[in-house]
Amino acid sequence: MGESFEGGCFCGKIRYRMHGRPMFIHCCHCTDCQRQTGSAFAINALIEADRVELAEGEPVAVAMKTDSGHPHDIYRCPECRTALWSDYGRRGWMLFIRVSTLDRRAEFEPDAHIFTRSKVPWVTLPEGANVFEEYYSTKALWPAGSLARREAARMKAGAER
Ligand SMILES: [Zn+2]
Ligand SMILES: [Zn+2]
Repeated sequence: MGESFEGGCFCGKIRYRMHGRPMFIHCCHCTDCQRQTGSAFAINALIEADRVELAEGEPVAVAMKTDSGHPHDIYRCPECRTALWSDYGRRGWMLFIRVSTLDRRAEFEPDAHIFTRSKVPWVTLPEGANVFEEYYSTKALWPAGSLARREAARMKAGAER
């Protein structure tokens, strides 16, 4: 897996290690992300759950309500409540790491900007960025290597989606 990247919550009770680079990175401008973070967007690194190793502490899952009806658990530090990652759909095999909890956060640029229909007007997206009003086709956009990793993780978990 090569390189690993460390991260943690604000108070330091939770420390984790992400093994390898993420499969894909979203910058999500949806109103749920805006509300849940209190910011203009959330930056999420999509990675296999087994590449995320806890070094210290144990985050707690907080279930969010969603429009789709699919579960969405946010894993937070039990002490300072920083959100570390999400498990969308309660898959168990893929996590959406909040990129800004990584120590080297600036090295991870979004591969796609999604739900830009609710992007705040003062945020200007970079020239040439992949921009989507809502969502996109994973098959069409992800690099082949990432698609293979995603499929391998899904199969390993015996999951249908
Ligand atoms: Zn904390
Ligand atoms: Zn979102």
